[in-house]
Amino acid sequence: MDEQNLKEEQILISITGQDRPGLTASVMGILARYDAKVLDIGQADIHSTLSLGILIRIDERSSGQVMKELLFKATALGVNIGFSPIADDEYEAWVDRQGKNRYILTVIGRTLSAREIERAANIVAAQGLNIDSILRLTGRMSIKHPERNVRACIEFSLRGTPVDRAAMQAELMQLSQDMEIDFSFQKDDMYRRMRRLICFDMDSTLIQTECIDELAARAGVGEQVRAITERAMRGEIDFKESFTERVALLKGLDVSVMQDIAEQLPITEGVPRLMEVLKRCGYKIAILSGGFTYFGEYLQRKFGIDYVYANELEIDDNDKLTGRYVGDVVDGRRKAELLKLIAQVEKVHLAQTIAVGDGANDLPMISEAGLGIAFHAKPRVVANARQSINTLGLDGVLYFLGFKDSYLGDQGRL
Ligand SMILES: [Mg+2]
Repeated sequence: MDEQNLKEEQILISITGQDRPGLTASVMGILARYDAKVLDIGQADIHSTLSLGILIRIDERSSGQVMKELLFKATALGVNIGFSPIADDEYEAWVDRQGKNRYILTVIGRTLSAREIERAANIVAAQGLNIDSILRLTGRMSIKHPERNVRACIEFSLRGTPVDRAAMQAELMQLSQDMEIDFSFQKDDMYRRMRRLICFDMDSTLIQTECIDELAARAGVGEQVRAITERAMRGEIDFKESFTERVALLKGLDVSVMQDIAEQLPITEGVPRLMEVLKRCGYKIAILSGGFTYFGEYLQRKFGIDYVYANELEIDDNDKLTGRYVGDVVDGRRKAELLKLIAQVEKVHLAQTIAVGDGANDLPMISEAGLGIAFHAKPRVVANARQSINTLGLDGVLYFLGFKDSYLGDQGRL
């Protein structure tokens, strides 16, 4: 037979067993000697148990010998090995399917059990999506020290196009409510790992209070103002109108209380960790707030935030609030505009932006951003956002960005 008529065939090699250093090298050593081409390769390691798959293309005359040598090596290494021939047509059909869409489903919670994963897997299966790979992003769980397992996160890589994305989103949301888990469903494109700008709401997102309520309490109009705030955040009344109404009630308050409030702001769980990681990775960070610049700037100094846009309270010559504000109110529409503007200034594609907030006035920026996250949000906001976080602190955002605890070296604890 001359060179050109040499027939080649595909063989899928599956190896499972106790992992040890050098295993892949010795398997590859045999394949290399017979000049095998590697068409695909993948490996998972679960509790030091290896599952390695290699799809090779090799000269038909050598394949018998290669399999014999591999079998011999596997026995010596104490691992299992299996071989499946893959016909040319079957292989080509698999290649043709590669144009399909890819998505990432991230599931997070304080703990995850088979029940939650079963429900999530059923939802994506019913949409015709195939799970290509599964990755745990959180650190290893201790059974002796359960108090160390503060969170669990698993990332699924999916292939295909959901039959009805809106219905799937609704089902995932229902699951999230039923089982106290959070999820994100994102297109797995180049932007997903190249996000650059993150815009946060401030009140009830970065801090666990509404500054206007704190000011009102000091001004002795707490009840009145809180009632208006709640209605505004549920989206029942126009934000600007309610804002003007509330600020008017603060008239006469001494500005010194602002510093006092700022120093005691209850920072949301996970914020210091999140900010530290985002800064280290070169993200641009913005606060886009319907609250007040005074507190935004306080947080800006504390965490090294790049941009702050909020509302400025007017102060008279006697250092008292006048009950008015200066300039335009930062409302929901303005937040979305600012997100686009900062992206433009920073030369960041809109798909590379993230918006995080809890209120109805955050919805425009949440829907505008490449990744919009409702954080411990009001029901109307959760219902309109593609992803939400209710079970964890704000550093849960890092899992949606694909960060593993092991990258950060803190195993999720900080
Ligand atoms: Mg808020």
